[in-house]
Amino acid sequence: GELGPEQEGLIIAHYGQQLDVEALEGEHKGDVLRCFVRANIDSLVTGDRVVWRPGKNETGVIVARCERDNLLQRPDNFGAVKPVAANIDHIILVIAPEPEPHDNLIDRYLVASEITDIPAVILLNKTDLINDQNRAPIDALLARYAALGYEVVRTSAVQFDGGPSPEVEALVKDKTSAFVGQSGVGKSSIIQTLMPDEAIRVGAVSESTGKGVHTTTTAKLFHLPMGGDLIDSPGIREFGLWHMSPQEIEYGFREIRDVIGYCKFRNCRHMGDPGCAIDAAAEAGKLSPERLRSFHRILQDMAEQQSRGLKAN
Ligand code: GDP
Ligand code: ZN
Repeated sequence: GELGPEQEGLIIAHYGQQLDVEALEGEHKGDVLRCFVRANIDSLVTGDRVVWRPGKNETGVIVARCERDNLLQRPDNFGAVKPVAANIDHIILVIAPEPEPHDNLIDRYLVASEITDIPAVILLNKTDLINDQNRAPIDALLARYAALGYEVVRTSAVQFDGGPSPEVEALVKDKTSAFVGQSGVGKSSIIQTLMPDEAIRVGAVSESTGKGVHTTTTAKLFHLPMGGDLIDSPGIREFGLWHMSPQEIEYGFREIRDVIGYCKFRNCRHMGDPGCAIDAAAEAGKLSPERLRSFHRILQDMAEQQSRGLKAN
């Protein structure tokens, strides 16, 4: 009756049952309208493309969700996954000389990228802090990931008079990006160079993964001046920090995925078990000692988390 014609839109933010939809066509094209959802559509997230119909007073009704390319998730309060954003072209995993990167944490993000099928780029920030002490280990670390086929880019957020560095600009241009990585590496600073008009407070975001501090903060989609979109929220920055099963961890290590199934025993736990194909691959030089150590560490951490969780219940 009073609703206008069906048309395509993009979810740029969501607040409980209400969502902000940018009209992608028609007379409202480019406008953002507060929309409600038909009860029969399952959960929608920022980045979802939808079919909606205009209503009265700059509102609308979402009637369908378009198919998703992928879903970016974060842990809920119980360590299970919770969707936060859809249709991301790549996550940009930011690391820096300071705080010092841990293989283990980088690999956890990369496992998450592999299992959610969102490509990851490793961005070394704060190149201005590289010196004779930290240069060699950082170069070696980046070379390990480049050898695995991950794109590696270097930048500094404190140059270029506050504007974006050419490397970062090229990285985000015409793509939908999400920045992840541990606190203090410079994500807010880099985002600030991309969107000087947006008030993204540097150093202000607490990223403790404890007890759902950020559960009310919505993921927001921003259009970038150079073309492309950015989806950001404190929750997005917790990407990858959920509980992972041993099968997911095996799959998430590219070079381990290929040898899994060749262990001597079918129930191999890959923790130094006899005839383990992963140890054999490491001995043959197909898997670096750092990645092997990190793989063991993640398996172990997840097993401990699991047994703690079981005890708590
Ligand atoms: P976030 O927690 O990842 O969002 O990191 P912030 O953007 O809040 O940055 C943490 C600190 O690192 C701040 O004091 C920034 O000024 C500083 N910082 C960010 N990028 C750079 C950089 O490229 N070089 C240097 N030297 N400091 C930086
Ligand atoms: Zn094994």
